[in-house]
Amino acid sequence: MRQKIRKGMLAYSAVLFPITFIFLSPYIIIVSARMGVISGSGVMFAFLFLSSIVGSRLYCGWLCPGGAVQDMAGYANSRPWFGRFKIRSKYIIWGIWFSVVVFLWIKNGPLEVHFFKMFNGGLAGLLVYAGVASIIYFFSLVTGKRGMCHSICWMAPFMVIGEKTADLLHIPRFRLKADSNACISCGQCDKKCPMSIGVQEMVRKGNMDHTECIACLECVDSCPKKVIRFGVGRQQKKNS
Ligand code: SF4
Ligand code: SF4
Repeated sequence: MRQKIRKGMLAYSAVLFPITFIFLSPYIIIVSARMGVISGSGVMFAFLFLSSIVGSRLYCGWLCPGGAVQDMAGYANSRPWFGRFKIRSKYIIWGIWFSVVVFLWIKNGPLEVHFFKMFNGGLAGLLVYAGVASIIYFFSLVTGKRGMCHSICWMAPFMVIGEKTADLLHIPRFRLKADSNACISCGQCDKKCPMSIGVQEMVRKGNMDHTECIACLECVDSCPKKVIRFGVGRQQKKNS
């Protein structure tokens, strides 16, 4: 039932994506910063960072329309994505992009917040939406399960930094827990994980923290022995 609700929420976020993509755009934040404006996407990225301090990456697993589009591509290609620079590339892209944004904010300050900046719809807006959604879809279709989350997503680093901040400050946040003694090594958790994480190995090691985990709870719901649980707590061991 929980996974039906989650997938229903993701599907609805995909329905709203033609409207909401403007508030998740890595481009509009740059155009706005050149005008001395913090756009809706700037506000949204700040919200994602702050929410992840307690909620980890729940947004990615339950609400992200880009994730929903990738899950659709997953029906055609459900292989795990094992690219060589699969995760590192995301942080390189984010580092360059966000440095440019911060530079423009500093250069063009004082800043004003305009949440609906460039929210004007029309044919041009629809074409941009179609382009963005197509890139997300086809990238994951070619690479494999949630390939864009792993390699390109400009939002995930905000949340990973939020998680790390929480752990550094010993703030309790959403995380998985496991009783390794009860595991029968059936591999269901590995098979179901949309982020292709080696969940079984994490259970074996007794460390369920992973920066790529999107808190979807597929591993929790698929485990026949109820080995994996979730809750809010402080970091027990060093993160992966
Ligand atoms: S480890 Fe579990 S909760 Fe995290 S992404 Fe994989 S299946 Fe989802
Ligand atoms: S699904 Fe549960 S029992 Fe099976 S390998 Fe994963 S943790 Fe172990």
